[in-house]
Amino acid sequence: MSLIVQKFGGTSVGSVERIQTVAQRIYKTVQAGNQVVVVVSAMGKTTDSLVGLAQEITSTPSKREMDMLLSTGEQVSIALMSMALQELGQPAISLTGAQVGIMTETAHSRARILQIKTERLQRHLQEGKVIVVAGFQGIGEGEDLEITTLGRGGSDTSAVALAAALQAKQCEIYTDVPGILTTDPRLVPEARLMTEITADEMLELASLGAKVLHPRAVEIARNYGIPLVVLSSWTDDPGTRVISPMPKPRSLDNLEIAKAVDAVELDGDQAKVALLRVPDRPGIAARLFGEIARHEVDVDLIIQSIHEGNSNDIAFTVVKEVLNHAEAVAEAIAPALRLDSSPSSNEAEVLVERNIAKIAIAGAGMIGRPGIAATMFATLADAGVNIDMISTSEVKVSCTIAKEDCDRAIQALCNTFGIESSPLHLPSHTQIENSPPVRGVALDRSQAQLGIRHVPDHPGMAAKIFTLLADQGISVDMIIQSQRCRIINGTPTRDIACTVAQADITTARSTLENLVAQWGMSEVLVNTAVAKVSVVGAGMIGHPGVAAKMFAALADHSINIHMITTSEIKISCIVPEEDGVTALQAIHKAFNLAGQEQVKVPV
Ligand code: ASP
Ligand code: MG
Repeated sequence: MSLIVQKFGGTSVGSVERIQTVAQRIYKTVQAGNQVVVVVSAMGKTTDSLVGLAQEITSTPSKREMDMLLSTGEQVSIALMSMALQELGQPAISLTGAQVGIMTETAHSRARILQIKTERLQRHLQEGKVIVVAGFQGIGEGEDLEITTLGRGGSDTSAVALAAALQAKQCEIYTDVPGILTTDPRLVPEARLMTEITADEMLELASLGAKVLHPRAVEIARNYGIPLVVLSSWTDDPGTRVISPMPKPRSLDNLEIAKAVDAVELDGDQAKVALLRVPDRPGIAARLFGEIARHEVDVDLIIQSIHEGNSNDIAFTVVKEVLNHAEAVAEAIAPALRLDSSPSSNEAEVLVERNIAKIAIAGAGMIGRPGIAATMFATLADAGVNIDMISTSEVKVSCTIAKEDCDRAIQALCNTFGIESSPLHLPSHTQIENSPPVRGVALDRSQAQLGIRHVPDHPGMAAKIFTLLADQGISVDMIIQSQRCRIINGTPTRDIACTVAQADITTARSTLENLVAQWGMSEVLVNTAVAKVSVVGAGMIGHPGVAAKMFAALADHSINIHMITTSEIKISCIVPEEDGVTALQAIHKAFNLAGQEQVKVPV
C-alpha cells in the first residue's frame, strides 16, 4: 500500500459542493489501494477576509494574534472535509497542526517547520482513516504551545513537509489551474502547460510560479527527493511533475531550517571577455551574442551593467579552451559597435582576462532572506579577495575573482556558510532527457533599479552596500558590478547596480545616499520604470545561442536592455517597464513555447 499526500488549495475547497467533489476524489484514491493524508487551505478567500477584519481594528495587528486569527480558516475546512469523507463512508479524522505535532520556530507569521511528529499520523493511518490536516499552521517549540503560521501560501509547504516526514510515495498539489505553465497566461494567452520541470528550474521561476507553488515547498521536495505533482482538482489530466535529483541522505530534524546556502561552487577554469563602451541602444547585445552563437561558442555568465551616458559594458565568461575563439569574435565585431556612425567615434574596447575563477553560493534558502549576498561579499572582503564580476539569480550569487584567490575564497565561504569543504565541485543540475533550452519565461514588474556610480574599487565596498540594505530588511534581487574602472580624484571606481522591490526603493535610496555621501564622488540613481524578463531552463547549459535568441527577440521589437544577469540556468534582462509585456510575449514566441490550445485559467 502506498502513502500519498494530497493538498487542496482554497478554490478547491471554496464551497460545500466543492468540498464534496474533492472528497470523492480522495475517496477514489483510497479505493485504489492507497493511504491518504490530505492537507487543505482555508475555504476560498477566507484568509484574505480574516486579514480584512483585523485591518478594521488596527493597521498594525500583533503577529501573534494574526496567527491565532488566520489559523482558524483551515480549521473550518479540515472539519468539513472530514465530514464529507465520513458521509461517503470513508473513515476520516481532521487534525490541526498542533494536534499532528508540526513543530515550528516561534516566528509568528513566517515560521519554518522544524520537525513533524508522525506517531499519531501513523496510528490513524493504521486504523484505515484518511487524515485531514490543516495546512499553513504549526505549533511553536517551547512550553507555551503557541500557534504559528508559515506565511501566505504556506499550505503547499505543509503538504510537502508531511510527505517528507511520512516518506510518502508522492505529494500531489491540487489547484484551480491545470499545472505549471510556460508563462503567465493572462499576459501570454498561448502559454502552454508543462508536463515536467526540474525543482531547480521551478525555484528560478519563483516569481512566475510562486502563485502556483510555494517556493519553500519546492525546496523541501528537492532536498528530500519527494516526487511532486501540480494538477487540477477538476480534471483527470496528469498536470505537471516537478522533478528532484536523488537526494543526499538528510535528517528530518530541522526539516525546513535548511541553511540559506547549501553549496559553495567553484569553476576554476573560466576566462572573461569584456566589451567596454558599447552603444546603449536596442540590438547591440543581440548582435554580439548572435555572432558568438554563430561560432558555436558557449558562454556562461553574462552581465551588462548600468550605463554611463550613452554607452554600456557587456562582459561574459567562457571556459578557457574557447577563450581565443571568443576573443577573436569579439575583436572582429568591436569595430561595428561604435557609439555613433562617424568612423572617428571610438569603437568598443575588448578586454580579456585569462585567469579567473567563478565562485558561487547556491541555495533556495536565500529566497526572502535578506543579507545572504552581503554576507558573501563581506566574507570575501575579509579574506582580502577582490570581486570582479557579480551576477545573481533567484537562488544563486556568482562572482568572478582572480584565480590565485580561489582557495582562500572557497575556504572562507565554506566557513561562513557552514558548508563542509568537500572536494570542490561544479554546479550540478538535474537534467531530464530532452530538456528544452528554455522551459519557461517570467516577467516581474515589481522591481526597481538602483545604481551607485563611482564606488571605490577595493575589497569590502559591495559588502558595505549590501549589508546596509540587508540591515533595513531589504531583499536585493539582481546585483551587477560593472567592468569599467574609472579613476576619480586618483581613486579607481566602479559602478554597482541592483534591483530591489519597488516598495523598498525609497528606503534603499536614502540608506545608500547616506553611505555614498562619505565617499564624496559617488551618486545614487533610481529607475522605477523597469521590468525584469527572465528565461529559465536546465537545457541551456552547454547549448550555445540561448542568450543570443533572447536578445534578438528583444531587438526585433526595438526594446533596449538596461541590465543583464545570468546563472547557469537563467538569463534575466531589465528592460523599460512599458516594454515588459511585449518583451515577455516576444521571448515566449522566440523559444516556441506556445501551446496548441489555450489553457483555461480562472481569474
Ligand atoms: N490560507 C493560507 C493563505 O491564503 C495558506 C494557503 O492557502 O496556502 O495564505
Ligand atoms: Mg497556494
